[in-house]
Amino acid sequence: MIVYKFGGASVKDAAGIKNLARIVAASGDDIVVIVSALGKTTNALENVVKAHCSGDANRDQQLIDIRSYHEEIANSLFSTNDLPGGLLSSSFESLIDNLRNTGTDNYDQTYDQVVSMGEIWSTMIVNQWLIISGINSVWVDTRKVIITDNRYRDANINWDETGRKLKREVENSRGKILVMQGFIGGTPDGMTTTLGREGSDFSAAVVANIIDANRVEIWKDVPGVMNADPAWMPNVSKLDRISYKEAVELSFSGAKVIHPKTIKPLHNKNIPLIVRSFFDPVSAGTIISSNEQVEQVVPLYVKKENQILLSLVPKDFSFVIGDNLGNLFQQFYRHGIKTNLVQASAVSIAVCVDNEPVRIERLKGELESEYKVLYNDGAELLTLRYYDRESIENITSGREILLEQKTRRSIRYVVKS
Ligand code: ADP
Ligand code: ASP
Ligand code: MG
Repeated sequence: MIVYKFGGASVKDAAGIKNLARIVAASGDDIVVIVSALGKTTNALENVVKAHCSGDANRDQQLIDIRSYHEEIANSLFSTNDLPGGLLSSSFESLIDNLRNTGTDNYDQTYDQVVSMGEIWSTMIVNQWLIISGINSVWVDTRKVIITDNRYRDANINWDETGRKLKREVENSRGKILVMQGFIGGTPDGMTTTLGREGSDFSAAVVANIIDANRVEIWKDVPGVMNADPAWMPNVSKLDRISYKEAVELSFSGAKVIHPKTIKPLHNKNIPLIVRSFFDPVSAGTIISSNEQVEQVVPLYVKKENQILLSLVPKDFSFVIGDNLGNLFQQFYRHGIKTNLVQASAVSIAVCVDNEPVRIERLKGELESEYKVLYNDGAELLTLRYYDRESIENITSGREILLEQKTRRSIRYVVKS
């Protein structure tokens, strides 16, 4: 079996859904299709949750706009602006009803119940279009198959339960193409969870690992993994083959073409990952596999925006790398803050993290009893692999460097944005 994943950057309108169907039809293999929310729906739903939790009356209008966007797409694919059985309208109406009965204090839990709907609507539309196009497909409710804990917005997979449920689903749907939602899962007691922003790539890897897929193909709005984000730098070149190790380093550093959690489940079962062009489906893309021999010939540039550099100095002047280190990172984990770079000296530690103001405020409040907490917001994390003098000059020239970290392969800078 093969797992295909289509993201919102590709599937954002009726033409995108038609293209998806052509790609699926041309494959001729047994496929599981994983789809993200259409276009920027996830961002729009995040704003709905923010509005709901802050009591902003604009919430309902935001939902009406999201509904219109989906109805317009449905309208240009089907003969009405709805799915058979009025599925789209009933789903939007029950979301509004549910929100009216939902409090405003449990942000992360509410977030997952609301934001996950983007993937439900996209897969309903995609599946209906596949059926109309003569493809024997079936819609799978991923919330009942990808089983997780209840760490909302960053849920952990329960591999045993998911294995049992997913294998049964595949067995029952033999001969059909399964259409599943990326990014979302469910707890054993029926709450919806999400796996972290951009998590649909990871969903594809989880499914591939469990069903022992032959390969995963993620279809993107770029020709493959490039040596830099083409939206950032001109004249980038495609990497034809890279190792799992290279891919995980790039994605962890911020190359958002692949979600960093995607690589491990594939590496563990030696399943190749192909990143390829949604708009040019016959071109080869980038093959990511255990191939360790491939030597990079060009510098690789990665940028992670919206960072904050925290500097922590123990108030009692104890060594920061001593007994406290475990506790310190436990606090970051508990507040759901991922550490993107760490650098320590005897009595201070610098940690570069995504700038999520609410979480950071909570963390700061907790740390301030033991540490003096200094911070620099408005920062970017730049990573350069296989650097040389010219590439370093390229990314640092004219920038204010807050921190530098260098190894034989990589050099990383935290700079002012
Ligand atoms: P999807 O919605 O399909 O998951 P994303 O927008 O998450 O798509 O990822 C694709 C985007 O990743 C591209 O449009 C590109 O701007 C960005 N990107 C960042 N780094 C790279 C890179 N090294 N190579 C290719 N694309 C990259
Ligand atoms: N729709 C989700 C997001 O935008 C998941 C994904 O696209 O991978 O984060
Ligand atoms: Mg993505």
